[in-house]
Amino acid sequence: MKRSFSIFIKLFVILQSISVLCVSEEFDFFYFVVQWPGSYCDTKNHCCYPKSGKPAADFGIHGLWPNYKDGSYPSNCDPDALFDESQLTDLMSKMQKSWPTLSCPSNDGLKFWSHEWVKHGTCAESELDQREYFEAALKLKDKVNLLQILKDAGIKPDDRFYDLDKIKDAIEEATGFTPGIDCNVDSSHNSQLYQIYQCVDTSGSDFIQCPRLPRSRCPSRVQFPKF
Ligand code: AMP
Repeated sequence: MKRSFSIFIKLFVILQSISVLCVSEEFDFFYFVVQWPGSYCDTKNHCCYPKSGKPAADFGIHGLWPNYKDGSYPSNCDPDALFDESQLTDLMSKMQKSWPTLSCPSNDGLKFWSHEWVKHGTCAESELDQREYFEAALKLKDKVNLLQILKDAGIKPDDRFYDLDKIKDAIEEATGFTPGIDCNVDSSHNSQLYQIYQCVDTSGSDFIQCPRLPRSRCPSRVQFPKF
């Protein structure tokens, strides 16, 4: 009797551990990364506007990337994953507006979105399926108007140079969280404001303080190019 009770307890503990392993998250947080199209186009010397036309002069989504606290990140987590565009049919005009492709030749964006889903989205499948993943990113974009925040702080896309600290401070003051800033260098060697990183909890719905900021390649003053 005593023996069978101890087997029962052991079995219970093993089952508990398995269930914890199954529901445990496979990443620590998301980076929600938006991109200034003027910088993308300037650096690559050229870009191609999507088939739907020139994107708005606004930050566009680059991706929603699962990350680990140690700075590493998972990628391409499901070899069987397929990008199913039929799940996005009713989100298409929103996707084109908020997540514009700029690669050449001019295209409809499906290649860019598929790349983001297969490389990054499949690593968040414990939390979000494909449709939820894209919906989460679109909602995050609508939650914070970064361009307006910067404009309100006198930082405009007018080809002038701005203090990196002023850019970070403006976003921190408005959102409550320190952003990560990524720069690129154009053909005249000007460092430009390229991408802004905000951290998001594993459910993909709330901004959080970054457990770790991405490495920055920005000097103390950066150009904010026109688009
Ligand atoms: P990732 O692999 O998610 O880090 O994204 C990098 C890839 O996305 C590179 O191949 C970039 O050229 C591409 N990329 C970045 N921004 C855009 C954009 N707006 N449109 C199309 N491709 C992009």
